[in-house]
Amino acid sequence: GLADVPVLPLDEAFALTAEFKADGCAQKVSLGAGVYRDEQGDPWVLPSVKKVRQQISLHQTPNLDHEYLPIQGSEPFLKLARDLILGESLSPKGNLTSIQTISGTGANHVGAQFLARHLHPKHVFISDPTWSNHHLIWTIAAPNVTRKTYPYYNAADRSLDFEGWVATLEREAVENDVVVLHACAHNPTGLDPTHAQWKFLAELFRRKKLFAFFDSAYQGFATGDLDLDAWAVRHFQEVLFGLEECPDHEEGPSGLCIAQSFAKNFGLYGERVGAFHLSLPPSTPTSGAYSQLLQLTRAEISNPPLFGARIVTTVLSNLELRSQWEQDLLEMASRVRNVRGLLRKEIEHRLGSGSWSHLESQTGMFSYTGLSEAQVLRLKNMHHVYLMRNGRASLSGVNESNVKYIAEAVSEVVSN
Ligand code: PMP
Repeated sequence: GLADVPVLPLDEAFALTAEFKADGCAQKVSLGAGVYRDEQGDPWVLPSVKKVRQQISLHQTPNLDHEYLPIQGSEPFLKLARDLILGESLSPKGNLTSIQTISGTGANHVGAQFLARHLHPKHVFISDPTWSNHHLIWTIAAPNVTRKTYPYYNAADRSLDFEGWVATLEREAVENDVVVLHACAHNPTGLDPTHAQWKFLAELFRRKKLFAFFDSAYQGFATGDLDLDAWAVRHFQEVLFGLEECPDHEEGPSGLCIAQSFAKNFGLYGERVGAFHLSLPPSTPTSGAYSQLLQLTRAEISNPPLFGARIVTTVLSNLELRSQWEQDLLEMASRVRNVRGLLRKEIEHRLGSGSWSHLESQTGMFSYTGLSEAQVLRLKNMHHVYLMRNGRASLSGVNESNVKYIAEAVSEVVSN
């Protein structure tokens, strides 16, 4: 009966945020949640987003309504979202179908559900380590697909384990298996494949007919350049389903897909703005897939939320706002890059030996610090510095006023 329902632990990231909020220490530092904070440690509403909010205020647009979107979401939004990730030259030529989702999580979820029902992969391969929700989403949305991991990280030299990754796919992956790929700014390691490595992977996916599932939650955050951060996705799209169709005898994979989040790059975390894009080979009709995606959406959310999509659409379709947004993105990416260097310098200065260069070389919002679970616990209990048990630190919590305090705390737990 319901009395016997087992109690599950709260998700670590959310539990950590709650603990941090309840901590009364004035010097406390949150390096837990993957959200951007400004130099004062506060949430940052992007100036481009603020401008749109002014434009669509009750005062400016008293007749703006709050009707339902269609099941697939806002069409202008979907077109702009697709162009943003695939580029304006590749996107219109693709054989694509898109729906609006509850941010990146919803896109991952509906994608897993759809593929489990209609592609019937034997396995889904998830990087080890990864954003922990990947495992949960596939467990819940696609219980019949066997989850496997591919090695991603060499702890010994803090490098990408590309050989292990490729060897695992070569050995264990079979046709139509799904492989979840972080489009850029890998969470939690901050390590991305090089272009040459992505090219190698695209060939492997083509030869073995594997289905690439790109999770794009940080476009603009890795390099500060929207096109560069979409390079891997665009390369796969071009190689697998690009301009020249594969000759019949050389049939490629059944498709690829993209789960796109606007939470981080627009600072619209709570508005839940995202999209799911499915790209099929040029000769495969998309109408069946589209109708199934609509049905899954109808059953789950009926139709997606309006407000965030309205903001993103307004920014992306207006030249001036768009250029302001690109500056906003650059500001976030550069501030994080800047504190990487500061923190490295302060820690190395205190410890005298040992390199913390990985703080600077890793990319995106996070650093995979290499701190052990015991050290992470001590950081929290003794110093009120909060990060994930696996040693992942969200670097936007660092700023010029607390960097010395954090470096002091890290040095203490490392020396202890
Ligand atoms: N994928 C990855 C790798 C992430 O890090 C995140 C955010 N933490 C997401 C997807 C989705 O986040 P959201 O649902 O807020 O868009």
